[in-house]
Amino acid sequence: MGFLGDMADERPENEAGEPAKPEPLALETLKAETVNPEPAELEAAAAAPMADEPAKAEPPPPELAKAEAQPAPSKAELAPDLDIPLLRIEGVAKKFGNFRAVDQLSLEIRAGEFLALLGPSGCGKTTLLRMLAGFETPDEGRILLDGRDIAPIPPHERPINMMFQNYALFPHLSVHDNIAFGLKRARIPKSEIEARVAEMVALVKLEGLEKRKPDQLSGGQRQRVALARSLARRPQVLLLDEPLAALDKKLRESTQVELMELQRRLGLTFIIVTHDQEEAMTMAGRIGVMNAGRLEQVAPPRELYEAPRSRWVAEFVGDINVFEGGLDRGGTPATIGPSNSRLAVATREAGTIYVAEPRQPIGKGGVCVAIRPEKIKLTGRGPTSDNSQALNRLEGVVTDVSYLGGVTAYKVKLDSGAVLRSSMANTARLDVDTCAVNQRVVAWFLPEDCVVLER
Ligand code: ATP
Repeated sequence: MGFLGDMADERPENEAGEPAKPEPLALETLKAETVNPEPAELEAAAAAPMADEPAKAEPPPPELAKAEAQPAPSKAELAPDLDIPLLRIEGVAKKFGNFRAVDQLSLEIRAGEFLALLGPSGCGKTTLLRMLAGFETPDEGRILLDGRDIAPIPPHERPINMMFQNYALFPHLSVHDNIAFGLKRARIPKSEIEARVAEMVALVKLEGLEKRKPDQLSGGQRQRVALARSLARRPQVLLLDEPLAALDKKLRESTQVELMELQRRLGLTFIIVTHDQEEAMTMAGRIGVMNAGRLEQVAPPRELYEAPRSRWVAEFVGDINVFEGGLDRGGTPATIGPSNSRLAVATREAGTIYVAEPRQPIGKGGVCVAIRPEKIKLTGRGPTSDNSQALNRLEGVVTDVSYLGGVTAYKVKLDSGAVLRSSMANTARLDVDTCAVNQRVVAWFLPEDCVVLER
């Protein structure tokens, strides 16, 4: 590890959290704050139309120009100690008035990791990113980069870059020059700038549009320029707040793959905020699920989905059936089937459900059994008699069938009145085995596929 440092770049915000109206790009300010400014570009920047022209892209503020002009730290300066995480967030809290937007949050992120933050709107994801970038100051706790507290380091000196969804591009500069801006300022040789810009343009599929200005691009294209620009200087850590939101599904999927390849190839550390769970699972090595300012669970995608640590996470990530109950026989495992010990959970809505013994200890209080729809099979005949593992069988009537292409989703009204969701892969082209609305079925599933959680 140890790449060119880059700087966080974003418009500053006012007290109310709204983007501040950008100041005109003051020539004197830029001259005073940038390293080796080039007068022609500065004049162009100073003459740029302002952000309140509604149809145009907004110009970045002087702070951004300054940030992009900083000389990148040397590799030696950034060389991480492999024994310590690249980023360590220790008990960080951020309050707005009495409201704790981020609350006692701790997290370690290794160099080269691709971490996604998931969570409902308003749970504090952006606030956390803003603290990493230096746009917000933690009220409690500290953030260490390579073992050093970064509190005293201003945003533009952190080797952390942030790309926001509504990123401001220079309206007077072409796509090429927007992407090249920070590289030129860092005095990178021209040939390398051209190669890097071409690589970035190809990455975000903007070939042929290099000469266009931001107001000649669609929203999605502008966002891709912003992405290219934030990656161009290869920051040590890139923070991405919904970076692909404006792209259509196909382009979004291909950009996901390309982003992952680029991140691996360059060894950068990416932290991405997304509302798209599939996107988080596709791209990230680990996902942190946030709720009300706290991290509920941080785990690789499969573990998060298959072994959620709380009912909240189970219900937030993907689709799941949950039955509340209590451990039968005081939680003493019963041996059922060939040498398998099972716990019996008595539920109101689904009777006794047999589950594999959970890895984590379960308290004496109420529990719930959670089971994903794709783990539940439906059949008109019941599970085949030789499947001795199919201990759990619930009867009901199909009330809804939705064909979704790869899978078909079913709703089954159990005799208790509860509704069970099942989804089955359409592995054959012809629908010989599918269940129909009003059909009476047996829903069956394995104890190993159940997750037992405290209520
Ligand atoms: P979303 O997914 O909708 O973008 P989020 O998880 O990123 O949400 P944040 O933007 O971090 O959420 O906001 C967390 C909470 O803090 C929200 O309730 C928000 O209203 C509040 N908040 C954020 N910034 C400020 C601010 N500058 N002043 C007051 N409250 C704020």
